[in-house]
Amino acid sequence: MSHTIDNPTLVLNCGSSSIKYALISEDNQTRITGLAENLGLDTARIKHTDLDGEKQEINIAGGSHKLALQKILALLEKYKPIAVGHRVVHGGREFSEAVKVTPHVLEEVKRLKVLAPLHNPANALGIEAVNAIYPDLPQVVVFDTAFHQTMPPVAYRYAIPKALYDEEKVRRYGFHGTSHAYVSDRASTLTSATGKHGWLTAHLGNGCSAAAIYDGKSLDTSMGITPLEGLMMGTRSGDVDPGLHIHLKRTLDMSLEEIDTMLNKQSGLLGVSGLSNDMRTIEQAANEGNADAKLALEMFCYRAGKYLASLSCALPEFTGIVFTGGIGENSDLIRRNILEVMRHFNIKIDNDKNAALIRGNEGSFHHADSQLELWVIPTDEEFRIAQETREALGMAD
Ligand code: AMP
Repeated sequence: MSHTIDNPTLVLNCGSSSIKYALISEDNQTRITGLAENLGLDTARIKHTDLDGEKQEINIAGGSHKLALQKILALLEKYKPIAVGHRVVHGGREFSEAVKVTPHVLEEVKRLKVLAPLHNPANALGIEAVNAIYPDLPQVVVFDTAFHQTMPPVAYRYAIPKALYDEEKVRRYGFHGTSHAYVSDRASTLTSATGKHGWLTAHLGNGCSAAAIYDGKSLDTSMGITPLEGLMMGTRSGDVDPGLHIHLKRTLDMSLEEIDTMLNKQSGLLGVSGLSNDMRTIEQAANEGNADAKLALEMFCYRAGKYLASLSCALPEFTGIVFTGGIGENSDLIRRNILEVMRHFNIKIDNDKNAALIRGNEGSFHHADSQLELWVIPTDEEFRIAQETREALGMAD
């Protein structure tokens, strides 16, 4: 095996207590990945897998984002990264594409913490840490919200007073943008359908969202001003009646913080099943006759199918549906159940092909006479971020 990586881009996903990283070659054929976790705690460590497959675990007890990045950059220095691409959760209204980091961009990433309090500050820490260690290494921010900036006002506005939009930027933004962009692009490459393509993309993982994409542009999506709106997820409720907050305040005297925690961390598959946020556990328990797990699974599929059906209204033409994310890529049962909910769309599944699409396989699973194409496309957000990073720096072919 070669011990070099051609023109590698370092992709960083800095969370509040973790950093996921990937060093990716220009042709996407080679990559090194790793994870720094438990940052700030005694158990802080880096799990790194080198190019030859050798794994190491580096103890950085109490280590900060900066210390972790120093170690990560030291591990990767020999491969000479040419650029760093950061996944940033919220780009607000200003950013509709990936941009090179400048002092202004960094300030904006920090300012947008009003819209993503858990994520944007950690993303900013990552940018500053790289800057402190390698001030000459070009950095780019790739926003989770940017791909959805093509949504028209009819899709992104909430039906609330205009001043809240004008003055406070209260609107729908959408998330998982790099994933929806990657899988819809890939579907348009793989399909034999000619002309412009209209896809519904279903990113079903721990977080779940769906998007309507026509001719490469997002026209609507299920997540809103925060990543809580829309589909039922692992621990997130998705849509609830906005009156639920006041109801819980009045009846149980719950605080806004308690309600926020409940809706984000104790709901979804976990909340309904009382068992787990992990779809594999839910599927198994449902099989064994657990009624709550069965209901959680049915609700997950019903709500996903209902959402996809409603999002089809955004598409001028409807070519097909693309599944991705841990659940979308691996569970033929969930895919089939969701499509059964959409029973008025004349969808015909090839069951053998559906069953074979697991563990990172890419392919279609519709019958030749199905009205809609059906695809499973494993998402590759790191690759997309690396690609957008090179494009933003004018390094792309
Ligand atoms: P992600 O956030 O994309 O990593 O996806 C995580 C989710 O994918 C979890 O709910 C997992 O249970 C689910 N998942 C992974 N593999 C499978 C599988 N074989 N069948 C069903 N769900 C799966």
